[in-house]
Amino acid sequence: MTDTCFACPSPATTREHVPPAYLFPERKDTDGSHDFRRNLITVPACADHNLAKSGDDEYFFWVLSTNLPANAIARIQVSTKLARAHQRRPALGHSSLSSGEEVIVMDSQAGTKHEVVQVPLDGARFQKVLDLFALGLYRHHFGERWVGSIRVHPDFIAFEGAESPADIDVNRLILLDCAKKLFANEPKHGENPSVFWYQVHEPNGPLQCLMRFVFYDGCSATAFIGEGSG
Ligand SMILES: [Zn+2]
Repeated sequence: MTDTCFACPSPATTREHVPPAYLFPERKDTDGSHDFRRNLITVPACADHNLAKSGDDEYFFWVLSTNLPANAIARIQVSTKLARAHQRRPALGHSSLSSGEEVIVMDSQAGTKHEVVQVPLDGARFQKVLDLFALGLYRHHFGERWVGSIRVHPDFIAFEGAESPADIDVNRLILLDCAKKLFANEPKHGENPSVFWYQVHEPNGPLQCLMRFVFYDGCSATAFIGEGSG
């Protein structure tokens, strides 16, 4: 029997990496002492749900790795892979960065200031990739395709529309705090935790559960999975 795609009822013709292999450093970009691409997670996929084909994997990586909370692994990647991608396809980085504005970000815990470039995010595209990624991980973890609703909230993106920037931060911190408490006793999964790990919390079984994803140590997101959550 042929496997079906992780995201739709079509027969699978390929395997998709979740998260995209693009997020994991290649050996040539590190000191070679650790293989970050060992035992990556893959799930059956159809051609339409192959993120590498659409370039969405590169976009996903770009948003994550240039994010302020991302760790040193992400910064290595920015200086190697992202620089190469920029040379190959200058339009990707250039169009995003040229529309950005320089802002000063205050780290209230460390008391330090950082000069960063704030760039507009293609929220719909990023959300689409994030939702697909969550579906892929569900397929991997439970061995079945999820057909109900799924909603992923990233903790590290400032979405427009809140009353003020302070509100965004307060709401994000509340969500982050709740997630940390909820997942405190759940085991962490993932072979390369400095790039990615995840947890599952299923008080009512796999039909209503929460998944927490952490990329590059600092970029976390929570997925709400359940028939009534959409
Ligand atoms: Zn599909």
